Order: sequence, then structure tokens, then C-alpha cells
Amino acid sequence: MPASPKSTDPADPARTPLSTLAGVGARTAEKLAARGLLTLQDLWLQLPRRYEDRTRLAPIRGLQPGMPVQVEGVVEAVERGFRYRPSLRVALGDDSRATLVLRFFHFRATQVAQFRVGARVRCYGTPRPGQHGLEMVHPTYRLLGDEEQPGLGERLDPVYPQIEGVGAATMRRLIRQALERLPDDDTLELLPKAVLRERHLPSLRAALLTAHHPPPDADVAALLAGTHPAQRRLVLEELLAHHLSLRRQRITLQRHAAPAFAKAGALADRLRAALPFALTGAQQRVFDQLVRDLRRPVPMLRLVQGDVGSGKTVVAALAALLAVESGAQVALMAPTELLAEQHLASFRAWLEPLGVRVGWLAGKVAGKARTQARAAIADGTLQVVVGTHALMQEGVAFRNLGLVIVDEQHRFGVHQRLALRDKGTEGGRVPHQLVMTATPIPRTLAMTAYADLDVSAIDELPPGRAPVRTVALSAQRRPELIERIRGACAEGRQAYWVCTLIEEDNDKPGEAGSAAGSGARSEMVAQAAQGTFEALCAALPELRVGLVHGRMKAADKQHAMRRFKNGEIDLLVATTVIEVGVDVPNASLMIVENAERLGLSQLHQLRGRVGRGSAESSCVLLYQPPLSQTARQRLATLRETNDGFVIAEKDLELRGPGELLGTRQTGLAAFRVADLARDADLLPVVHGIGDRLLHKAPAVADRLIERWIGGAARYAGA
Ligand code: ADP
Ligand code: MG
Repeated sequence: MPASPKSTDPADPARTPLSTLAGVGARTAEKLAARGLLTLQDLWLQLPRRYEDRTRLAPIRGLQPGMPVQVEGVVEAVERGFRYRPSLRVALGDDSRATLVLRFFHFRATQVAQFRVGARVRCYGTPRPGQHGLEMVHPTYRLLGDEEQPGLGERLDPVYPQIEGVGAATMRRLIRQALERLPDDDTLELLPKAVLRERHLPSLRAALLTAHHPPPDADVAALLAGTHPAQRRLVLEELLAHHLSLRRQRITLQRHAAPAFAKAGALADRLRAALPFALTGAQQRVFDQLVRDLRRPVPMLRLVQGDVGSGKTVVAALAALLAVESGAQVALMAPTELLAEQHLASFRAWLEPLGVRVGWLAGKVAGKARTQARAAIADGTLQVVVGTHALMQEGVAFRNLGLVIVDEQHRFGVHQRLALRDKGTEGGRVPHQLVMTATPIPRTLAMTAYADLDVSAIDELPPGRAPVRTVALSAQRRPELIERIRGACAEGRQAYWVCTLIEEDNDKPGEAGSAAGSGARSEMVAQAAQGTFEALCAALPELRVGLVHGRMKAADKQHAMRRFKNGEIDLLVATTVIEVGVDVPNASLMIVENAERLGLSQLHQLRGRVGRGSAESSCVLLYQPPLSQTARQRLATLRETNDGFVIAEKDLELRGPGELLGTRQTGLAAFRVADLARDADLLPVVHGIGDRLLHKAPAVADRLIERWIGGAARYAGA
């Protein structure tokens, strides 16, 4: 492990501090440092997010929605509106005798004055369908003087990730300066030459120069698609660095000892005998695997994937009993209070009859109760503690933590897992870790995202589950559904109505607004849910209707969910916040609005909320016609299969891993250039080189990790 991955060193070009660049004062250096940019090398790897093609002017007549272009035209009309909020619309015409509307939501009076009828404007943006033909919302633009005819760009312009307080032009200038100090190939190159030759990939130096400043004759289409050999080369190295970093973490962790739970498993046998059902073959197989792991004095790091309803909880409980029988404590952590409560109920019902003391610690536990819970954890009175993030807080100390179980892994980051694990680090021993997720991840992705974990799968459902009947209906048939809900609830069943939002394309103020945009978005989803809630209350006056959305206070959300769970609500109108793990077996009908907008895995998760009891359940996917080809395939896949693994593979194929494995979800550092779906074919290469480097050239592996992950790798020091 490099002692200080981010140390600077003026003698080494890679580690030269940015303050040596012209124009970088203390303030700029600080802004850059806030984004992890400390050295020249950090700037070399600060790659363009995309490119803008200003090498040509596009005629307005031929513009395609969604395709960014540069356009030049003359202002034909200007209109200011205030209907919902201030807006400025500028109609631009060109020689192709077509009109494009430029639309602004944020603007100054001086801007309005600039756009006189007859003024010439050159702008760059992405046309989208608007009320009257195509529109560009917040394009970048400049007004041209009467005689002014600026030349066209000679190369693609790199667009870098925005950094607060550092303008785009400054960023481009700094990166250009940093690149002037790129060392020669031999100093820079870390990948085996044979690999590069074999795959026809350029050296790192050449790849960086091309990626930052594509030469005029570069393959523009490939660059825009991210498949240019220069980009592939960078992707390969980045994926390799991530892979190595995770493998390293695992190796480092497994140098520690863990408690070996070698007792015969009498408690687990007693639980099994007491269960009203027999384990499925898959549950048994995974449990046997856990027994083997837990008997060894090496920390277990195992991910158990199992489709919704496959019965992961009981397997976790059996594993917990192995730890308890050997005198160790167990922590079970879930991402929400509701899920944690559900686990608490199961664990109490299963373990307390065996004399095991099960406790509870969540954010809500406060004051004296919290002090007591912490004391009982610290002195070992509690053998199993169930809870939320609160378990990881400072001040929670276990007497003898031997096993950490984390449910719904993708909601927690790697670092959070490490934090809980650290609670057990005493006398050099670390606890075993069991991670459970209901989001099956295709094998190639699992090997990359979870290279630090062993993976096993509960790939079989308990017998007797009737598969959820899934139908796709056009939204025009919404009224029929009202009757269907009435019918189901009259029979004593419950139903979910899930609201999602149709994207409002007009409403994207470009890059700058994206952070604010997500807040606005969740507000809009909440409003849509509120509207649907009111409409359903009016249409179904005899039913008790509840509402849950992301804008509600956590306590109100939980209150509504709990009432639904207790049967005090018949119909729950919700946004996708209900997605994870909630178990209401009496719910037998789910309606999902705008289903064509959701990814397959997400729809599958939602659908998993019904079909958990004995009743025949259905899921109705409402869509807005016309359906795109991909949306049609997605809905068809859901109708055809209930198998989460099949669905995950298909999702990856149709949509890419972004939604399966976001940064937020896995806690993996975001990739700078790699895209796991696009670049999946490189993964076997990555694994091959990774093995070789770890065994034969660990120092090179260190340098790769330092280069690409730097500060983040500090978390690896276990
Ligand atoms: P998930 O894997 O989605 O977390 P759960 O652990 O919540 O699933 O299990 C879903 C339901 O199935 C629970 O009510 C559980 O008690 C039950 N269950 C688990 N294993 C079996 C089995 N082998 N046979 C029958 N029912 C089972
Ligand atoms: Mg579960």
C-alpha cells in the first residue's frame, strides 16, 4: 500500500503540484483540490466528459432532435413569456429557410436586449421537440458583429466535468498546460507492451493526447461513442486499476484473522427443525457454503444474491446462530428502518425461542433507550443486534462482533461496509461479512464491482409460489383498473399504485442545472403522486387510500407504510420509494404507471412487492403509447419471465449497467472513462492482466491504483 497515495513531489512530473501551473493561485488550487485534483497527473486523467463538434455549421432544416450541433442564423422574432415562470424565446432562421427556437429560463435584461430582430447568432446546443418545432434550451451562443465571420473549429472541443469556481475556459487551459509536461512513453507506461500490441492500443501518452485533443482527422463518430482506440486504452487501464484496488482490499483484509465458528451448529439445527418449511435446495447449498467460510479463521467476504422472495433472511439467521453458538455477536444492518424492523420481527420470532437475545438500534432510538442499547451491545448482553446506519455510528462498540450481515447491499457503499466491519477490529481480528442483495448482477459485472467478494446465489424460489401475472396495458385503459382495484379490495386484498414521471424534455436547463434538476424532479414526482392520490380517493370513496413519496418526512412515510402493512390502508399510492424489500403478503395487485420509463430490474423489484402471499397476484404495467422498440422488449421480458437473473442480463443488454450499478449504489468510485456495458468485452482482459500483475509485479499494481484511484485507495488500508 502506498504510504501516502496523494503526496506531491515537484521532481516527479506525475506528482508535481498544480500550483506550479501558470494561473493557479491558492484559491484555484483549493477549488481543484476539493475535487481531488492535486497533481499534474490528476489533470492528465481529468478526461473530457464528451466532445462538442464545432467543426461545421448545421443547416436548421436538417436538425435531428437529440443530436447536438452548431447552428448560425438570424433572429426573426423574440418573445418574453411569464406563463409559469419567466421565459425568453428567440426564433432563429437560416439559409435553409427553417426556424429554430432558442429558449431561456434564466436570463438577464442585457441578454434580452442583445437579441434584436436581424442580429446574427452562432450557437451550440441540442435541439428537442418543442411546442412549435425544434427548440434548444439554454444553448451556448455568441452574437456576431455585422461583418464578423469567425472560422470554424478544426478539432472536436473537449468538454470537461464542471468544477465549481473554475471556469470551463480556465479548465481547458490548465489541462493543456499539464499535458505539455507529459513525460515520454517509457516513463509513463505501466501496461505490458505485449497487451497493447496484441490489442492494437496506443501508449498511454498517445492515448491521453488524443483523448484530450483529438486530431482533425480523428474518427469523430468513434470518439463521440467512446470507442476510439485511445479511449479503449484508457478504459482498459482504468478498469484494471479498479479491479486491482478491490483485489488488494480483499488481500489486505484477509491477512487479518477472523474468529472461527467451529461449533457443531446445534442452534442452527434447532431453528431448522422449528421452521414450518424445509429449506430449498438453493438455500441449503448457500448455507453450506457459509458454514465452510465461517469455520475458517479467515474473514469471510461473501455476497449472497437471491431474487425477491427467495428466502435470504432465514439463511442469514442460520448463519447468525453459528456465530452466537461460538460466543460471538452479530450485527444485521438494513438500509431503511422499515426493512430493519421487518428483520427484527423475523429474528425475534426465530431466535428468541432458542434463548438468543436480540436487540434493536436505529436512528429513532434515542435518549435512555439508546444508552441502554449501547451498553447492552458493549457488554455482550445482546447477542444479535438489528438496525440501520445507526449501528455504524461512533459510540457503538461491540464486545465481540464476529459476523456482520448487510441486507440490500446496493443501498450501502463499500465504505459503509468497511465502517461497520471496523467495529469488530480488536486484537487484530476482524468479523466475517455477509452481504445480501436482491438485485442480481450479471456475472461480468459482479466480477468487477464485487471483485473483493465471493458471490453465491439462491437461484430457486420456495415451492408453491404462484408467479405474478404480468400484463402491459395502454394508459388509455386506466379506468378499467379502478374497477379491478375495487374488486381486489372488496375481497380483502390490498393494492399498490406506483407513480413515476414522464420526462419533461423542455425542462432541462443544461449541465449547470442538473443538480438542482434532480430536486425539482423529485418534487414533480411527488406532485404527480399527490394528484393520482386525490384522483383515486375520489374514484374509490369506499377505500382507505394512503400516500408515500420521497418528499414526505421519513416518519410520515414510515407511518403510512406501517398502516398499509397492518391492513389499515387498502390502496397505497406510492412513488418508487417502496421498491426495496417491503413485505406485505396480503397485497396482490400492483399498478405501475409509465412503466416504459423504468428499467427492467427496477420493475422487477417493484413487482416483487406482490406475490408474496398465497393469493394469485397481478402486476399491471401501464404505458404511454407509442412504445419504443426497447420499451417493447422490456415489457415483453417482464411478461415472459419472473427470474431476476434472466432479467438482470437482459437489462444490462438493453440499458447498460448505470442503473444496475450506479456509484451511489455500489460505493465504487465513479469511473472517469469506463462504461461497464460498453466496455464489458475488456473485463476478461482486465482480469487476466490483474492476476499477472498482482503476482508478478505488485509494485506496478500499486502505481496503477495510485494513478487512477489515489485518495480513494486510502480506504483500502484495513
Ligand atoms: P428475500 O430473499 O426477498 O429477503 P425473505 O427472506 O423475506 O425473502 O423470504 C420471503 C418469505 O418466504 C418469508 O415469508 C419467508 O419466511 C419465506 N420462506 C423462506 N424460505 C422458505 C422456504 N424454504 N419455504 C417456504 N417459505 C420460505
Ligand atoms: Mg429481504
